[in-house]
Amino acid sequence: MKNESLPLLSVEEVWARMQAEAVAVADCERVTLDEALSRVLAEDLRAPITVPGFDNSAMDGYAFRADDARGRRELPISLRVAAGDRPGKLTPGTACRIFTGAPVPAGADTVVIQEHCERRGDILVLPETWTAHTNIRRAGEDIRAGDVILQAGARLSPQAVGLAASCGFPEVLVRRRLRVAILSTGNELKTAGLGPLNQGQIYDSNRPMLHALLAHLGCEIQAAGPVSDDVAATCEALRAAAQAADVIFTTGGVSVGEEDHVKTALEAEGTLALWRVAIKPGKPLAFGRVGAAYFLGLPGNPVSAFVTFLLFAQPFLKALMGQTPGPLRGFPVRAAFMRATPDKRREFLRARLTIRADGALWAEAYPRQSSGVLSSTVWADGLVDIAAGRTVAEGEAVPFLPFEGLGC
Ligand code: AMP
Ligand code: MG
Repeated sequence: MKNESLPLLSVEEVWARMQAEAVAVADCERVTLDEALSRVLAEDLRAPITVPGFDNSAMDGYAFRADDARGRRELPISLRVAAGDRPGKLTPGTACRIFTGAPVPAGADTVVIQEHCERRGDILVLPETWTAHTNIRRAGEDIRAGDVILQAGARLSPQAVGLAASCGFPEVLVRRRLRVAILSTGNELKTAGLGPLNQGQIYDSNRPMLHALLAHLGCEIQAAGPVSDDVAATCEALRAAAQAADVIFTTGGVSVGEEDHVKTALEAEGTLALWRVAIKPGKPLAFGRVGAAYFLGLPGNPVSAFVTFLLFAQPFLKALMGQTPGPLRGFPVRAAFMRATPDKRREFLRARLTIRADGALWAEAYPRQSSGVLSSTVWADGLVDIAAGRTVAEGEAVPFLPFEGLGC
C-alpha cells in the first residue's frame, strides 16, 4: 500500500475512532493522599463533614456582639481565643481577643482587625467606624456535608489532594496505573550511554522522550532497547510487550517503505488500522491490537512522534485511565507570523508566547518547523493550530494549545 492510498482522516475522526475503542481499566486501588497526585479518581468523593465546621475569625483582632458595641467606643476584654481553642460563651457587653482561625465564641458576631483598634490594658478601644458581621468565615462557606467535592474520572491535581484532605480523607480510591511498553525501531538507533556513535548512527531520542511523557501521565513503563529493522525481531518484541502491557507504543518504521516493518509485524501478531492523518507534522499513525494490548505506532521523526503523542495518544491514554475527557484547551492569541499560502493539511506550529506592549499574547513560530528539529519543542510553549486551507495575516487571532494542557 502506498502512503497516498491510505485513508486521509481529520484529527476529529481519529479521536472518534480511538475513543470508540477505548475501554478504561477496571481495577482500582486505595492510595494515600501522598501517593494520589495525577491518579484518576475511581469514585465520587462526597464530603462527610462541613468545612469549615465552625464560624472562625478571618483575622487577628477582637470579637464582640455588634448590638453590644453600638454607641460605645470601649469594651472590657473578658476572653482570649486562639486557633485550636474551644471557647466558652462571651459575656454580654464584653469583647474577646481573637486570632485567625480561632472559633468565634457564642455571643460574638463581629470581628474588628487589631490594626484598627487600640488597647488600654484590658480595655478595647474601638475605631470610630466598623462594620457589623465582618471578618468571620462562616461554617460551610467552603463545603457542605454531602457535597460531591471531586467526581469520579477527575485527575487529581495538587489542589484536589488538598481539598480531599480538608474533608478528612486519608486515602482515595483510584484506577490502577496503566502499564505501557515502548519500542523504538531503527537500525540507526543507539542508546545514550552505550558508547559513541558509529557512522550513520543517531541517538534514540524518542524512547526517553516517550518515557518522560508517559511518566508524566502516571503510567508504569516497560522499555527495552531499540528494535532492529527486521520483521522477526519486531514480531518478537511485540509478542513480549503484549504479555504485560495495556498499551504498546512503537516509534518509527510505520511508513510503508521497504525498511518499515511495524505494519507487517503487527498484521502477523495482531490487528492494524493505518491512517494518514491530515496534519502537519504527521505521517501515518498506526492503531491496533496485539492480543489484549492496544497498539499505537507513532512516526519516527521525533517532532512528529511528540506532536502525535500529544494530539492522539495522550487523550486515548486518559480514556483508558478512566479520566473524563476534557476539551482540547486552545485559546486565541495573536499571530506574530504570517502565512500567505494556505496548506491542504491542518498544521500545528511549535510556537512561543510573549506579552507585547499592547498587553496581548502573541505567538511566535519557531523558524524551523521541520519534523526532525526537536529543539523547536523545547523552545516552544505549545502549538498553534492552523486550520487546513487557512492563510494567516500578522496580528490575526489563532488558537494556541499550551503544552501543559496537552499533558506535558
Ligand atoms: P522512520 O519512521 O523509521 O522512517 O523514521 C523517520 C526518521 O526519524 C528517520 O530519520 C529516523 O532516523 C528518525 N528516527 C526514528 N526513530 C527515532 C528515534 N527513536 N530517535 C530519533 N530519531 C528517530
Ligand atoms: Mg526507521
